[in-house]
Amino acid sequence: MTRIQERKNSNLANEIDKVFPLSSIIFNAFKQINREVFVPNGLSGHAYSLNALPISGKQFISSPLTVAKMTHYLELDGVDSILEVGCGSGYQASILSCIVRRVFTIERIEKLLQEAKNSFKILDLDNIHTRLGDGQYGWPQYAQYDRIIFSAAASFIPKPIGEQLKENGILIAPMDIDGKQIITKFIKKGNKLIKKELEVCEFVPIVDGTISQDFKT
Ligand code: SAH
Repeated sequence: MTRIQERKNSNLANEIDKVFPLSSIIFNAFKQINREVFVPNGLSGHAYSLNALPISGKQFISSPLTVAKMTHYLELDGVDSILEVGCGSGYQASILSCIVRRVFTIERIEKLLQEAKNSFKILDLDNIHTRLGDGQYGWPQYAQYDRIIFSAAASFIPKPIGEQLKENGILIAPMDIDGKQIITKFIKKGNKLIKKELEVCEFVPIVDGTISQDFKT
């Protein structure tokens, strides 16, 4: 990484740290990931601001501050595997990949998933496994996961997601509660998810099904 790039990443980590103090592990993750890679070309001037930005398919790359908060709430110390529902640009997954041994991420819009995969390749992130699908069904093949994160807002936790989380595992999800979205933490205890509401947030909603690329004609 060039010195200039290193400085841009450090500045972003510092900006987040001023608002939401970061552990050294999370701070270092932000230092390693060039957000620019995940942002559409025309918007690269804004890549190092704390804003969410539009990407393909009417979706958004999450604000770095939101990514930092979600990452913090996941309590990732010593975690082996995490499943993300809603890969989008891949920025959240790439931050997770610096901290966790294996990241599994699902996206329902094929175009976005292709762009995310390309970004992972550019940054040489080889511990992120991707899948086109409706993330509400999870990814049974590699279950159970130590952690699960929803990167889009849900109104309920689908059964397969609960089943694919390890005992005492943590699930962080933006939940629609009484017309607001709230980052919510769930801990799995037996066949129950023990819930704690954390803070108000703003995510795009979970949507059913998948959108595949059309054949080029
Ligand atoms: N983590 C992303 C945020 C992406 S926005 C980032 O850092 O940029 C949320 C994403 O969730 C969108 O790309 C949307 O297409 C996806 N999504 C919504 N419903 C989904 C579902 N049922 N399964 C998988 N992905 C879904």
